[in-house]
Amino acid sequence: MKMMVRAPAKLNLGLDTPFAHSDGAIEWRMVMTSIGLSDHVQIETTTSSKIQIISDSGFLPNDKRNLAYQAAHLFLKRTGVTSGLNITIEKNIPVAAGLGGGSSDAAAVLRGLNDMFDTQLSLEEMAKLGLAIDSDVPYCVYGRTALVSGRGEIVTPLRPLPKMWFVLAKPNVSVSTPRILRRLRYTQVDHPNIEGLLEGIEQSDYAQIVANLGNTLEPITASSHPQIQVIKDRLLKYGADGSQMSGSGPTVFGVCHSESRARRIYNSISGFCHEVYVAQPTC
Ligand code: ATP
Repeated sequence: MKMMVRAPAKLNLGLDTPFAHSDGAIEWRMVMTSIGLSDHVQIETTTSSKIQIISDSGFLPNDKRNLAYQAAHLFLKRTGVTSGLNITIEKNIPVAAGLGGGSSDAAAVLRGLNDMFDTQLSLEEMAKLGLAIDSDVPYCVYGRTALVSGRGEIVTPLRPLPKMWFVLAKPNVSVSTPRILRRLRYTQVDHPNIEGLLEGIEQSDYAQIVANLGNTLEPITASSHPQIQVIKDRLLKYGADGSQMSGSGPTVFGVCHSESRARRIYNSISGFCHEVYVAQPTC
């Protein structure tokens, strides 16, 4: 058997960290959406008993450190299915960029295997399995605009976003998410207005959504990587209505209402930053 699953990148329209749990885990309050920039994950059964990861990216581990491998392993253990698997990842989402590419690949593997073997795990069950891999996997299992809270396991789907376009620009720096989260413990943060953002989505009010973008982690990452603020400013200067870093960075996105504006911003920022993408929310 063979199947292809799309694994979309995510953007954090809102990211707040209200507190840390006593075990050190972060309590999240995030508004996330999935966009048209996607990896393609092909799953093929084999007669061996191995899970093999094949990818076209030199940056990815091909062993059990790969989140897609971990998802397949957990799925087989949870369902009792026995099969060898070849998982081929065509990587389009930049790695370690704040776009959740690894988590999305893992979620695609869970959803794909569930369909392939007709194991009928619910979205909740797959989300629970995925939480053991990364806090973004439960969201990616749902893959639609949602409020994510708890340690990542509480996913509340929201209305689809009104028409909007994103221009993504990834500066050429690497960011370690665990390092940013360690710094968060010692940093006084401003909390974004997640309620305002939720209200904007509920009302399908583009202006209110843009006015309430916010990411607690942005000043922490930007303090080590000044390019982030420079790109944000340029996106606004070139015509974006709002701009913000996604996740722990370093990718910054600009928001605008029309495709033609997005293409103009893309052309302008491309002369300044070499990894640039235009995308729409998928829902
Ligand atoms: P996070 O904020 O969860 O760290 P991210 O969106 O910034 O995620 P990813 O592209 O998911 O970044 O990569 C994070 C780390 O996970 C990288 O160090 C990468 O080597 C590792 N990784 C493991 N499997 C994958 C995969 N299938 N795709 C991308 N990265 C993977």
